[in-house]
Amino acid sequence: MGKEIRVGLSYNDVLLVPKKSRSVSRREIDTTTTIAKGVVLNIPFIPANMDTVSEHAMAIAIAREGGIGIIHRFMDIEREASQVRKVKRAEGYVIENPYSIGPDYTIEEAKEQMARNEISGFLVVDKQNKLLGVLSHRDIMFTLHDKKRVKEEMTPRSRLIVGYPGMERNGALDLLKKHKIEKLPLVDKDNVVKGLITSKDLHSHVSNKMSAKDKKGRLLVGGATGVKGDYIERAVALQDAEADIVVLDVAHGHSDSVIEAVRKLKKELDIPLIVGNVATKEAVNDLASAGADCIKVGIGPGAACTTRLVTGAGMPQLTAIMDCYEASSKQKIPLIADGGIKDSGDITKALAAGAGAVMFGSLFAGTDESPGYFVRRNGVKYKAYRGMASLGANVSRRKLDNMDIDPDELAQIVPEGVESSVPYRGSVKEVVSQLIGGLRSGMSYCGATNLEELRKNAEFIMLTQSGAAESYNKLQPS
Ligand code: IMP
Repeated sequence: MGKEIRVGLSYNDVLLVPKKSRSVSRREIDTTTTIAKGVVLNIPFIPANMDTVSEHAMAIAIAREGGIGIIHRFMDIEREASQVRKVKRAEGYVIENPYSIGPDYTIEEAKEQMARNEISGFLVVDKQNKLLGVLSHRDIMFTLHDKKRVKEEMTPRSRLIVGYPGMERNGALDLLKKHKIEKLPLVDKDNVVKGLITSKDLHSHVSNKMSAKDKKGRLLVGGATGVKGDYIERAVALQDAEADIVVLDVAHGHSDSVIEAVRKLKKELDIPLIVGNVATKEAVNDLASAGADCIKVGIGPGAACTTRLVTGAGMPQLTAIMDCYEASSKQKIPLIADGGIKDSGDITKALAAGAGAVMFGSLFAGTDESPGYFVRRNGVKYKAYRGMASLGANVSRRKLDNMDIDPDELAQIVPEGVESSVPYRGSVKEVVSQLIGGLRSGMSYCGATNLEELRKNAEFIMLTQSGAAESYNKLQPS
């Protein structure tokens, strides 16, 4: 063919050249990043929108640390939207639409709804949403007759302390403290419920300084949609559930159908749209022109990904980020480096190469907060982790769509991912603490005190085989 073949580099092919660092403590190193207009993270970490990584528990945990979780799309629309709502209700100075129940429901029904929504109580309201009482878990803990009505067990309105809409945080805190109560319903002059303040939320508002929050003090969260079928309806449902961002998630994002989908979604959505995955500057330019607010980069680097083996296509991740950054910096939109992160050093390299944030699958799949159960092998704990293009994930999708699981049809599927497991890693907090510590230290080696300086100051050096051996072939911990 006579065509020139470029060299593509992966994280392990390079190191960052150490630079003079200003003596600031590691805590003073600023890792804030803006991934789209109004979506500011305190740490540039995003667990992947995969069914073994990111549902509401993960999204809550990562947002408390300063990042953002993206709820995966491999569930029906209502369930995905309700996961977003759970994150939005997890914290916040005021819960604007608190869960409520009618007075004539049975205790059995109330308990079932409490379990389903993972909440510890209800406001009891009439049909006009006027406050009649509060039913808390404690009220019914010892109720033996589940057929009793909510109105018989609730704390009635006459005994409740209430606040009013728009009241100051300190005023609310005083009332909660003075009356030793956990919940303060907010009602207007006609006794109509306008919100709820809980002591838990007021305290977390103060204690989690790093949390990534929206203007109302609620944790940030995103949701994913696809490019086929009811993808617009799904994205709109996520927006209605007050997601901060929608991710248009497809394996090969540089296609006519994705460009068309971006145009359509941008007409429907007021919240930012992240689009991916791609690996070239042409793709960034095309998607940015269609209206994408942020681009996700990565074709083939994922731990559970077999795309490069199966198709022969892909792009070494460091070069992919650098190429995409050439276009995205001109388009003035951020990049997310997705996949292939094995250690904190890779994070520093991804951000130095131009990414504004990093997405992880395997590193977060083994945490307490990922969906699924632990299994034990030879006394060691593991958690399942699978590629979303694996055979198992394809079968689950067919089940979700009520399609037949016909062996002949299954044989036609060409998986581009594997089903595997990853070692238990503890809580998201513990994993983040190690990764962010490594990143801060890496930034300091590069003489950077924030991510913009890191991108500007970074100088990569390419490794020879012996340089790589010297860097990575280390003693294993005993
Ligand atoms: P990891 O952090 O290396 O585990 O990579 C996670 C990323 O792999 C995800 O965010 C996706 O972009 C990508 N991915 C997930 N499932 C598959 C798959 O089945 N095939 C190819 N790539 C996948």
